[in-house]
Amino acid sequence: MECPTCSSTQLQRNGYRNKVQCYKCKRCGRQFLESYKQVRYSEDIKQLCIRMYQKGMSTRTIEKMTDIHHTTILSWIRE
Ligand SMILES: [Zn+2]
Repeated sequence: MECPTCSSTQLQRNGYRNKVQCYKCKRCGRQFLESYKQVRYSEDIKQLCIRMYQKGMSTRTIEKMTDIHHTTILSWIRE
């Protein structure tokens, strides 16, 4: 698990909402649900970002074009 905003793994369990574990990021204070990351972007968008990176675009450029945080894009590239 990591923060969807800053990718920090310094997370604090923050109770349950509709039986889903909630987390709070210790770094940026963002609160989110355990399933948040999986439902956020489709596989198509993910593959598109990876292709843009392979064509030589920086993660910051892709971030500006797609509104997807560059750390999310980086985590896809590292997979
Ligand atoms: Zn965070």
